[in-house]
Amino acid sequence: MGQPYDRVFNFSAGPGVMPVEVLEQAREEIVNWHGAGMSVMEMSHRGKAFMKIAEAAEASFRSLAGVPDSYKVLFLQGGASLQFTMVAMNFLRPEGVADYAVTGSWGQKAVKPGVPGKINRVFDGKETNYDRAPAYSSLKLTPGADYFHFTLNETIQGVDYMADPDLPGATVVCDMSSNILSRPIDFSKYDLIYAGAQKNCGPAGATIVVVKESLLERVPDGLPPMLDYRVQAENGWMLNTPPCWSVYMCGLVFEHWARNGGLTAAAERNEAKAKAIYDAIDGSGGFFKGHAVKENRSRMNIAFTLANADLTDTFVSEAAANGMVELKGHRSVGGCRASVYNAFPPEGATALAQFMADFAARNG
Ligand SMILES: *Cc1c(COP(=O)(O)O)cnc(C)c1O
Repeated sequence: MGQPYDRVFNFSAGPGVMPVEVLEQAREEIVNWHGAGMSVMEMSHRGKAFMKIAEAAEASFRSLAGVPDSYKVLFLQGGASLQFTMVAMNFLRPEGVADYAVTGSWGQKAVKPGVPGKINRVFDGKETNYDRAPAYSSLKLTPGADYFHFTLNETIQGVDYMADPDLPGATVVCDMSSNILSRPIDFSKYDLIYAGAQKNCGPAGATIVVVKESLLERVPDGLPPMLDYRVQAENGWMLNTPPCWSVYMCGLVFEHWARNGGLTAAAERNEAKAKAIYDAIDGSGGFFKGHAVKENRSRMNIAFTLANADLTDTFVSEAAANGMVELKGHRSVGGCRASVYNAFPPEGATALAQFMADFAARNG
């Protein structure tokens, strides 16, 4: 396809594609970081050089995403999956209740944090095979609930709420793993957000948590320190060795997007990429069908099926032969999924759209 370094168009849902410029910078710096005489992965995490890298990564995230001063930013480990448990451990009182909206596979996992306390499903999209998100205004939240948890973008089903929540009075907790930094975020609408790095930020390892400082006052005493947001915040997320390499790479990615127009420009590019592929679906005369309802179509993960399911494997393998890989959908939805994260090149979306039209013409 003529991509630099013979790279393919990588539609992987996660770990996902990285900006080539960032990979080049990492290559440049890998053996000897800025004259330190060693690579980032060989440094003490308490040393001056890494402290500088860590502070820069946090600062560039704050400035790119527009995180207010009243929120802490933490780079933790254990993935978004550990956040399912940490959120409940820190904020769901054993005698309390938390509201959860389940719009797909990750939400289904989040409702099983494995700690005491009641979980109330205020929405569950099971009946329609998780093809939609509720309107925020339709949610009947429990008065006095410890928090409301939802998945802003369901990675497997490709279902997005499309906008930040507006739930005054509720403590809002959000899994933003697959669409953080894909568009501007209004942090004032959230109390805690978390995201594994490997979808839209950097390599696997770090999990970004943004938490309102005042929320930390609710953390009960006596939690295991590694799982205690307050302790992690008090220790500047350096309670133990952080995921140094992932933090460093994330920092380079944040700077990359800052140089390229920030989140407003990212949102415009993402919108255009997703539109190219949804247009190919809608223009296929029923050959392809999108999984999500139109009002909740994810711009990051485009899940679709072929009317003739028997052609799915041929479609996926022919696409791969044409340099477009990782298009097979998750088994719970079937069909195909095209993940087009921030770093996914626009030409790849156009190439897929053309291939889809061509494939439909040949097999329709
Ligand atoms: C990938 C993903 C997760 C799980 O992430 P891990 O870092 O592998 O634990 C959770 N939520 C969403 C929305 C995801 O896309």
